[in-house]
Amino acid sequence: MFNITPEQVYEAIRKLLPEMSENMRKQAEELLQRAQKGEKVDNDLIDLARQDNKIREALKRKLFPEVESRERLLEYEPLPGNNDNISASTTYKCPEPECEFTWHAPQMGAEPPLCPTHHRALIPVSKKGK
Ligand SMILES: [Zn+2]
Repeated sequence: MFNITPEQVYEAIRKLLPEMSENMRKQAEELLQRAQKGEKVDNDLIDLARQDNKIREALKRKLFPEVESRERLLEYEPLPGNNDNISASTTYKCPEPECEFTWHAPQMGAEPPLCPTHHRALIPVSKKGK
């Protein structure tokens, strides 16, 4: 399972204090004081944090940053039509299947011309394709 030490919980809760409701913050501070005296109160703190959805999620993010970044990676999908990745090596071709006209973008973000034969907007060709 996850190797979370009580110290990590205390540290995370300490950082979350400003986000807590007054009532919850008082309880958390009390528990943290007991922790400083050597009591093991990490589970009590986690139970306390669970009472508030926002705090619970924030605590989870602080304790498991790796999990979150992995989730983000899974969620990440480039937006269609995002031109940021068009580089100097991008090649365009005419959408007409029989047309052999291709055009290489001379620089980042250069606008492709229309096919001189079919007057159609050129489409980017992926290097892997064909
Ligand atoms: Zn063409």
